[in-house]
Amino acid sequence: MKKVFLSPSTINLYRECPRCFYLHMKYEIKRPRGPMPSIAIGLDSVFKKYFDYYRSLKDIPPELKGEMDGHLIEQLKATYYKDIRQGYTLLGKLDDCLVTERKTYVPLDHKTRASVAASIHPAYQLQMELYCVLLEGNGMKTEDTAYLLYYYPLNVSPDEGAGSIMFGMDIKKVNVDMGHATVILEDAITCFEQKNLPDASEECEYCRWVENVNEKSLSATTALLKTKRELPVPEETETEEETKDTLF
Ligand code: SF4
Repeated sequence: MKKVFLSPSTINLYRECPRCFYLHMKYEIKRPRGPMPSIAIGLDSVFKKYFDYYRSLKDIPPELKGEMDGHLIEQLKATYYKDIRQGYTLLGKLDDCLVTERKTYVPLDHKTRASVAASIHPAYQLQMELYCVLLEGNGMKTEDTAYLLYYYPLNVSPDEGAGSIMFGMDIKKVNVDMGHATVILEDAITCFEQKNLPDASEECEYCRWVENVNEKSLSATTALLKTKRELPVPEETETEEETKDTLF
């Protein structure tokens, strides 16, 4: 059997919708996507260069001091791999990683947002848990901790113009539960191995859209719309208050 590679993004796909994960992994049918803004990728590489400077000094950027201890890992592998069971391998590309004074490893991830994040998104929680699973799988002891470094735009310096956008930074500590990640990982493998197409997520609108546009549903909808149009128009109009509710 061909080896199956799972990553934090495909495991998150499973978390969101087992059917989409199944179609993606088994049939390479990918969920439709709109145009992706490349700004986040551009900012990520700028932050990574900044971190590389402090890596060469065996240090951490000044903004992180007091928040975490240790220094940036000297050599970060492009990709970490861990075999989960025969035929299945987890892989992941960490943005960065700290080595603490206790010789443990703590993953760091850069995230760009429009504003400060109120809480940690479940997808990021799982991503960091899977990074810890990968590090442990490579003999690098972790501390059930990871950090998300959020960057968000603040303002433009009037003296320096539009090219000088200032960013704020928010550091969120993630309490990692590797047991949680391992359960999801195993569930995803079970889903991959099943013969039937899994259920679609109720929260996603794409499959619902497909269901609504098949011929049978279309004729039912057409009949319903026709009946609606044939109904007499009610004489009473909305009150002013009702109109306000609709508009606002
Ligand atoms: S419901 Fe959405 S996420 Fe699930 S299979 Fe359909 S398109 Fe994919």
